[in-house]
Amino acid sequence: MTSPGLASPHGREAPYGRDARTSRSRGWALIRPAVVAERSALGAMVAWSLLEAVPVLLSGRLMASALDQGFLAGSPSTGLACLGAYAVTLLLGAVGARQVMTPLARVVESVRDRLVHLVVFASLRRSAQTDAEADASAVARTTRQTEAVRQMAAGLLMTARTVVFSVAAVVLGLLTLVPEVALVTAVSLAASGVLLVRLSRSLRHRYATSLAAEEQLAGEAGQVLRGLRDVYACGAVLTAERQVGEAVDAQAAASMAAGRLGAGRLGVIAVGARLPLVATLLMAPWLVRSDAASPGEVLGAATYLVTGLEPALRSMVHSVANVGLHLGVLLLRLADHVTVPPAPAGGKARPAHAALELHEVTFAYGPGSAPVVDHLSLSIAEGEHLAVMGPSGAGKSTLAGLLAGLERPDRGDVRIGGSRAAELDPTWLRRTVVLVPQESYVFVGSVRENLAYLRAESAPEDHELDATVELFGLTELLARLGGRDAVIERPGALSEGERQLLVLARVYLSTASIVILDEATCHLDPVAEARAEQAFITRPGTLVVIAHRISSVLRAPRVLVVEQGNVVDGSHRELRQRSALYADLMIGLNAE
Ligand code: ADP
Repeated sequence: MTSPGLASPHGREAPYGRDARTSRSRGWALIRPAVVAERSALGAMVAWSLLEAVPVLLSGRLMASALDQGFLAGSPSTGLACLGAYAVTLLLGAVGARQVMTPLARVVESVRDRLVHLVVFASLRRSAQTDAEADASAVARTTRQTEAVRQMAAGLLMTARTVVFSVAAVVLGLLTLVPEVALVTAVSLAASGVLLVRLSRSLRHRYATSLAAEEQLAGEAGQVLRGLRDVYACGAVLTAERQVGEAVDAQAAASMAAGRLGAGRLGVIAVGARLPLVATLLMAPWLVRSDAASPGEVLGAATYLVTGLEPALRSMVHSVANVGLHLGVLLLRLADHVTVPPAPAGGKARPAHAALELHEVTFAYGPGSAPVVDHLSLSIAEGEHLAVMGPSGAGKSTLAGLLAGLERPDRGDVRIGGSRAAELDPTWLRRTVVLVPQESYVFVGSVRENLAYLRAESAPEDHELDATVELFGLTELLARLGGRDAVIERPGALSEGERQLLVLARVYLSTASIVILDEATCHLDPVAEARAEQAFITRPGTLVVIAHRISSVLRAPRVLVVEQGNVVDGSHRELRQRSALYADLMIGLNAE
């Protein structure tokens, strides 16, 4: 074994952050297969949309004829006939609008089916990877988002179609009727397009922020609800309340910011539809005087702008821009959710035995801080009992964390049961190694639930529970609590020592073959401590005890002494010669 250098490290920063930059096409890629698969439905939609656009296409032309050839030419019957023809086109348009619904529903349902399939499978894959329960709140949230996608996609497709065909019909109609107005309209439309793109960017950003805040809130609230029992057990009610409250405030602020930006949409309508109308009215005297257009044609152009272009633009701004943006952001979020990264490589090994090995291990808490463990090599054989002693801050708990696979070394190898800690299947790692800290955690639940908590495969039988309770001197406490199935309503009301004993009994009953007690008996009196340690000594498996009292050290056949700048291990006899700290402690003990 070599000695580790010891130092005073600083806090290690938890890596945090998520790459928020994702390409927009990822959202579209999510639903493209479903849309492409419904090609025939899309074709039917185009055909019916053409019929739906007929009234817009003919509206201006029929109005012009009604005025020029009818009412102004002294032939009211011709005027009325033109208006009648317009009424017929409206009926045709209504038929087209109605027929479009069936193919539209086919496309949208196919999109929804695909999304639900992707979302549920992603959640299952995730839970299979981590061996955890599927995150029900994530599934509920994302299926709700999927439903929103379905509704938005339906509205968007419906409106986008109307807008495209109406604007095309208006431009075509204007070109054939009054080309000068068509030109002004094209310029205005281009300007409103630029405005719309700029507005969309800000809106997309705001909406993404608001959605992220909503997810953050759902995550925080879900976590608190899932762990309500733990929150109460740890007395963390106020902290949980604060966390959820902050998430609620952030979400409200983000939603309000997104709402405020929506007002800018009115500007797009004004520039795109109102401006060409005002220009047409201003140009009207000149158009008529210069014979560029008849009064009927001016009225027809105004009809195109008022009954065709403005409603289409309104729909586009309110529905396409707004819903489209939301849909795009939602699809991106769903794309994020359904992208499940492959399970970390090498996480499948199971510990082959209960030996622990450190080879040239160096560990520091921060990139700039001095290592707490420096080039330490150590082997603990299967079934061995090792005590670790040393002054406070020497690095004993850090060593325990490394041995338990909770901390990853910066350099060197930690092998648990023959495999590198990083290569072990996390579930098996948890089942094989249990690290018991000073703070004991008893949750609201029955004594039986508390004791059986770490028993992975099969719940302990009553006689096994009773024997363990007796072994740890818990019989009296059990009787006071009301028996094995009595619920511990207020774990905080138990004494620290009682909680420690319950936790030790839980670990004793676990399937772990490697137990590391990190001053886990510090609240017990020496007799209770000796009884608990003795129980672990006779239990099969490897035992590492970070000793709180010298009596713990004396119970172990092998001792590791950790002191500033030096680590020495050996039997008691060897340590008397090799470790000054050990020798001092023993002299003090003998003198007592
Ligand atoms: P011991 O168990 O012997 O008292 P520790 O392993 O707890 O010692 O601590 C060793 C050194 O590492 C101490 O200087 C301590 O301040 C520091 N340390 C422990 N945990 C952390 C942490 N999470 N972040 C930063 N420094 C830590």
